[in-house]
Amino acid sequence: MKSNFQTKIINLNNSGLGCLLTFIIVSLLLGTIGLQWVVNGFLIFIALLLITPIIAIWGFRWWLKRILVEDNCPVCNYTFTGFNHTDCRCPNCGEVLKVEHGKFIREIPEGTIEVTAIDISSQILDQGEEFRMRNEE
Ligand SMILES: [Zn+2]
Repeated sequence: MKSNFQTKIINLNNSGLGCLLTFIIVSLLLGTIGLQWVVNGFLIFIALLLITPIIAIWGFRWWLKRILVEDNCPVCNYTFTGFNHTDCRCPNCGEVLKVEHGKFIREIPEGTIEVTAIDISSQILDQGEEFRMRNEE
């Protein structure tokens, strides 16, 4: 799994750093065969020292790309950055927005309003009918 990670990094960086990493990895592989444990330890230490910040920066960028969404507010067209898969509020107009597929969507609880409206109107109708019936009696 670790070697897979390292190959990916070499593919990403075709610079001198990539060559240096290749050299270190090859040395590590030769070292394990040759049982040069002291040299190995030193090389592993250097490799970790070089690889860790690269993985950290690369991982952080990948994570940022995944988590951050930049889009226009569907209400006021104001461009801002929000976090993916979370509800956020437009800093310009204050509209509560939902992030879906990298886009901001207005979060309108239509279903809830409709159901409540029907409940209220039917209640009013019932009450009205009761009132009418009482008046007729
Ligand atoms: Zn807005």
